[in-house]
Amino acid sequence: MKFISTRGGEKVTGAEAIVKGLSANGGLFVPETFPKVSGKEMEEMLTMSYPERAAKVLIKYLDDYDEKELLEACEAAYAKFEGPDPAPLVKIEDKLYILELFHGPTCAFKDMALTVLPYLLRKGCDICGVKEQILVLVATSGDTGKAALEGFKDADGVKIMVFYPDDGVSSMQKLQMCTQEGGNVNVVAVKGNFDDCQTAVKTIFNSQEDAAILKEKGTLLSSANSINFGRLAPQIAYYFSAYLDLVSSSQIEMGEEVDFSVPTGNFGNILAAYYAKRMGLPVRRLHCASNMNNVLTDFLAKGKYDVHREFYKTMSPSMDILVSSNLERLLFEVSGRNYKVTAERMAKLKSEGVYEITEDERAKIAEIFDGGFADEDEVVETVYDLFCDTGYTMDTHTGCAMKVANDWFYKNKKDVTKMVVVSTASPYKFPQDVLYAVTGNDVRDSFKGIKRLHAATAMAIPKSLATLRDKPIRFKTTVAKDKMFDEVLKFVEQK
Ligand SMILES: *Cc1c(COP(=O)(O)O)cnc(C)c1O
Repeated sequence: MKFISTRGGEKVTGAEAIVKGLSANGGLFVPETFPKVSGKEMEEMLTMSYPERAAKVLIKYLDDYDEKELLEACEAAYAKFEGPDPAPLVKIEDKLYILELFHGPTCAFKDMALTVLPYLLRKGCDICGVKEQILVLVATSGDTGKAALEGFKDADGVKIMVFYPDDGVSSMQKLQMCTQEGGNVNVVAVKGNFDDCQTAVKTIFNSQEDAAILKEKGTLLSSANSINFGRLAPQIAYYFSAYLDLVSSSQIEMGEEVDFSVPTGNFGNILAAYYAKRMGLPVRRLHCASNMNNVLTDFLAKGKYDVHREFYKTMSPSMDILVSSNLERLLFEVSGRNYKVTAERMAKLKSEGVYEITEDERAKIAEIFDGGFADEDEVVETVYDLFCDTGYTMDTHTGCAMKVANDWFYKNKKDVTKMVVVSTASPYKFPQDVLYAVTGNDVRDSFKGIKRLHAATAMAIPKSLATLRDKPIRFKTTVAKDKMFDEVLKFVEQK
């Protein structure tokens, strides 16, 4: 299997796509064709464990890797999750299920891929003959940084450095990162907001001069960003696994179509569902759920992507995003894989903050996708209602997807297709907001929030959050944004 760039010009192997992350002209790597999973293979996967199913999906794309090793890597990755099943499916009502993707080390769905990515990257370097030490640089607004740190801690031949905005992450997220263990990790606060942080990291990535300095020191930069195909591929697996669980528990017949509703930010999670459909998974519709930053809702309805709008800080911060990078991969598909048109649109987005697709393309997307969003009150109501009706507690991101699923059922009362709402975070990761939603109580302190949420819901507290309070703070450095590369050099020279 070869990978091509959405903006043309390059054709690489799976290992190269993962090591490079982004193509030289800024395009994203996509598979040359979509590999198919046959009916016979689906039958075989029914009795498999989660890691076995994941390895089966991964090898379809990454056929330059060794299948047995891929399986071992998946087994090691998902052994780090709490409980026997890394992606359990919970039945809520007759037609409604929740796919819980938050049982990993950092309690958010990013663990599903970031526990496997270190292997894919390390092995990819071996396959490509890269000899340098790898330095993974991450700019984070919260969840990605912690998940990447956990994934890469103590990985051979790799160092990881995370920059976060001093005043842009929640106290829980900050504590999670600053107490990070591992001999190859570094965490640095940057004076400024997330955009400052992200722009400075991108500048380091794009600088030939910085790259030359690092190369002299035997170091190559790499990215754990969600545009890396190594992040996307493991996410495709849980859509297959959820479907197979529905079949094996006799909720559906093999071949019956289902819907997914996905809390969306950078469009990575829901794109994985689309890839699963293209591989033959019986998916009918994909519901793209946003919060008040509903640029995607408007895009899906009107065919015009426009970032000129107010930016809201919401209770679902991991979805507070105006430019959804992975959407480029969908645009590429619906344009008939037209490099030129895709590149033009992305250039227009960069220079003017807006682009439009044709009515034909919009209609093609609408055959599969629809969009919706929840404002802050609606998120609170949705979390509260489900808790009252069923006793199930969900987090605020999942609340957006549930609201969009509810809207669909309200408008399509006779629809009998089963709906799987994808749950992306543990409620304990956003304890104050979830506590407020289920009880109306407001507390300032996260740990008090956890305690009271536990009292109200009796839901088990994830170990990694329960022990956080007693962990020593290891990282206290704050730098100005123009001094970030100095910190990178210091870290590279450290033993
Ligand atoms: C990252 C994240 C999202 C958004 O996922 P995308 O792949 O960026 O669309 C949603 N919810 C949570 C909790 C997240 O951490």
